[in-house]
Amino acid sequence: MTARLTIEPRLFAALVKGLAERGQGHRESGAFLLADRAHPEDQLPQLVTTIAFYDDLDPLCLTGGIDFHAVGYTALQNLCRRDGLRVAGDIHTHPVDRVQQSRVDAEHPMVARDGHVALIAPRFAAEVTDVCQIGVHVRAYGGWTSFYGDRAAEVVLVGTRAGGSAWWRRLLARLLIWHRHQETR
Ligand SMILES: [Zn+2]
Repeated sequence: MTARLTIEPRLFAALVKGLAERGQGHRESGAFLLADRAHPEDQLPQLVTTIAFYDDLDPLCLTGGIDFHAVGYTALQNLCRRDGLRVAGDIHTHPVDRVQQSRVDAEHPMVARDGHVALIAPRFAAEVTDVCQIGVHVRAYGGWTSFYGDRAAEVVLVGTRAGGSAWWRRLLARLLIWHRHQETR
């Protein structure tokens, strides 16, 4: 399995925390994952260096779902030009456990370009501690290929460039999921 994106653990933690805060437990939120423009697009994995939250680009976009306007794309373009960045992926949250794409997610993506990686975090990202909890959807030939669990963690590496995240982090994430399922039973 070829890794598509790499995210430093600290940046991943900031991303998840930011999504949860902006969603306030009752509305979806999201962010673009940006890479250095100088990094060749076909050289994988791409290192995510910057996060651009949707509501920082378009303050009115968090409407329960996500309603991202032209003003947001203009702000994104300006940011990328100014800092020499390029969009490598995006992430948004869902209210429930389901991290599959909705029909709208698949048919009207934020970026419809081959190689783009769209992530979906469950439960407004409130309990996400590891990428294995996230749905990873890779754009190819105008469609999507989806990865979940351990396979998702292979496509999006959270770790230093030397390796993936620690085994105990993944185990902890599993225990949290298991614990919650016991509670809601
Ligand atoms: Zn969605």
